[in-house]
Amino acid sequence: MKGWPAMRILYCTSEIAPYAKTGGLADVASALPQALRRRGHDVRTVMPRYVHIGADERELKRIVRRIGGDFFSRPYWGEVWETVMADGATPVYFIAQPELFERKELYGEDGRDYADNHLRFAYLCLAALELLKRLNWRPDAIICNDWQTALIPVYLRNRAELRDDPFFQSIKTLFVIHNIGYQGLCPREAMREIRLPDDLFQPAGIEFYGRLNLLKGGMIYCDRIATVSEQHAREIQTEEYGFGLDGVLRERAELLSGIMNGIDGEEWNPADDELLPAHYNLKRLAGKAKCKRTLQQECGLAVDAELPLIGMVTRLATQKGLDLIEAAMARLERLRCQWVILGSGDKLYEDLLAGMARRRPRQCYVRFGFDEQLAHRIFAGSDAFLIPSRYEPCGLTQFYAMRYGAVPVARRTGGLADSIVQATEKAVAKGQGTGFLFNAHTPEAMLTAIRKALKVKTQEPILWRAIQRNGMAQDFTWTASAERYERLLQLLISRGA
Ligand code: ADP
Repeated sequence: MKGWPAMRILYCTSEIAPYAKTGGLADVASALPQALRRRGHDVRTVMPRYVHIGADERELKRIVRRIGGDFFSRPYWGEVWETVMADGATPVYFIAQPELFERKELYGEDGRDYADNHLRFAYLCLAALELLKRLNWRPDAIICNDWQTALIPVYLRNRAELRDDPFFQSIKTLFVIHNIGYQGLCPREAMREIRLPDDLFQPAGIEFYGRLNLLKGGMIYCDRIATVSEQHAREIQTEEYGFGLDGVLRERAELLSGIMNGIDGEEWNPADDELLPAHYNLKRLAGKAKCKRTLQQECGLAVDAELPLIGMVTRLATQKGLDLIEAAMARLERLRCQWVILGSGDKLYEDLLAGMARRRPRQCYVRFGFDEQLAHRIFAGSDAFLIPSRYEPCGLTQFYAMRYGAVPVARRTGGLADSIVQATEKAVAKGQGTGFLFNAHTPEAMLTAIRKALKVKTQEPILWRAIQRNGMAQDFTWTASAERYERLLQLLISRGA
């Protein structure tokens, strides 16, 4: 922003793509810091060093040999390693503590969270703060994300050695809620383990019905709250979407903003995506037909250019509307279309989808696990892309789908409602209609929207093309949203509120 000085910003998170990713946060944590740096700010990021970090380990430099120690009742010593992001400029500091972070998964295994998650992420937060002192680099603001880094504002306000240290006193915190459904709940005893003062354990503090709620702590002790779309900022203040925290948010409503996520337009570009078998753009779509053909071949589906192909890339969780798929399964199988589904998550839904693929191998393909390449190929090879979420703070897959010319069929909630425009003929003619939305969270509403999309795809090819093109023409890159974050942070720092 013209006339404002450059800011120093620490971005603290539990995952950053490509080093570790379980969902959208990782993509955001890669793109937003780089976008803010491009705008002239000194942005640095911190995350744990897990067992596998998708980076060339030879590029990592150890910058701190001993960090931690007496954070908790028993010592945990760690190290800090550094690399830079793809832009060659944005630092990533990895907090390495083998006992806490070198696990098979990021947050839990076999559907169960690791029992010491509070310790693991409390350690991340305290090590990140100590690192600032070691580097003698004092940020103007710290951006914290979700429950894993929610303890930063809590500690800054409540741990005497931090609260009373002039180094930390003027640092502002922005707490970003990416998913209010995951709150980092733990038993009361965790308070002692992570050394939080007892008096915080009350309903006005971080207690939540007899348990410790890390997300709530972040919301209460930060200077400013954001969530990832405007629609969701309104939704989380309601009982239906607030997951028990809507009251807290209503009380702090004047501190809450909704800023839509963006996508990394270089990483996700069908015109030169290295993970695709062919390339295409808005004007030349021939490559997309080849991507579809290749996907059908690779998935063992009937190779048929005309048969609509619906893709899904998703966590297999009820949040993502897998309950609707379950309820509609028999009817979905009977639709004249193909399915390619990539997902990881609940075993229940894996079994459900595996059954679908087993019964109809030429029509349905499912793959379980996390597979970046297949994800890109599904966005490129699909005609339509299904996102029936129960709630969706922002969602990124609709952006990728539209950019890759796959028309989204989605529930009208959160960021999906903000980013997809219902493809009525009028809206399409105006260059606006980009997808098919349904309101009610019911299998019938979802099926009606899918049937509508299939009908347009097969019977109204000109209209379909226009919808596809409208989606591809949207600018979902970070430019506008990074500017909004910048403005929010500038005001927070300058006004001190
Ligand atoms: P959430 O963070 O709630 O899971 P988002 O839509 O915000 O949902 O982000 C999901 C991100 O994770 C997208 O980049 C999507 O492509 C990716 N993704 C989800 N599941 C998989 C998977 N099984 N394999 C590869 N990428 C996946």
